[in-house]
Amino acid sequence: MIIANNVCKNYGNLEVLKNVDLNIKKGEIVAIVGPSGAGKTTLLQILGTLEKPTKNKDTKVNINNQDVLNFSDKELSKFRNQYIGFIFQFHQLLPEFTALENVCIPAFIGNKSKKEAEKEAKHLLEFLGLSHRMNHKPNELSGGEQQRVAVARALINNPSVIFADEPSGNLDSESAKNLHELFFKLRDKFGQTFVIVTHNRALADMADRKLEMKDGIIINS
Ligand code: ADP
Repeated sequence: MIIANNVCKNYGNLEVLKNVDLNIKKGEIVAIVGPSGAGKTTLLQILGTLEKPTKNKDTKVNINNQDVLNFSDKELSKFRNQYIGFIFQFHQLLPEFTALENVCIPAFIGNKSKKEAEKEAKHLLEFLGLSHRMNHKPNELSGGEQQRVAVARALINNPSVIFADEPSGNLDSESAKNLHELFFKLRDKFGQTFVIVTHNRALADMADRKLEMKDGIIINS
């Protein structure tokens, strides 16, 4: 599902990623762990096509059998919209829109009709236990509810892979536990692949595999 070879990232003289190789299978839940500054977010952003690796002739990033480093910006936007879902530490929902509208946005960008998008969004929000919150705006929802809306938004286009960066970093322990269990439920139901940067030990221990990073390399996988 995800194959990366020789991924490097430099900011000036700072080598943030040093020849990282990894291979993640379809349906796997992989946690990326390690101390702050190890390069976890940078790696996640490169795998998620939000950031480009530093040019190097042997570098490869393949997602779903597609060589994403050769895409134009326009092709990348379309690819992300179709195949990738993102969940961030802070939900980044749009405050002036309801939960339902926030979830529909990626579907609209993918040219789905309003009727089709709303049907799918309602279905997801119901699955996530939010049917009674669909017409509320983010500031009327709890942290856990906001994050579940963000999960629904990440899932609306039925992506092959979800990238999450500290998804439970801003949640109380009960909501975090529920969110973690949800990831596994989603994988079992929809077969999605999850790559999750986390400091949460319980989540990392639940994952199928832990990739431990330090100083820009994977020291344990
Ligand atoms: P982690 O997620 O493991 O905490 P990051 O990938 O966020 O690590 O950052 C790794 C290193 O790269 C840090 O030293 C950080 O300061 C540096 N870094 C990240 N992004 C940039 C940037 N845009 N410009 C310069 N340095 C950066």
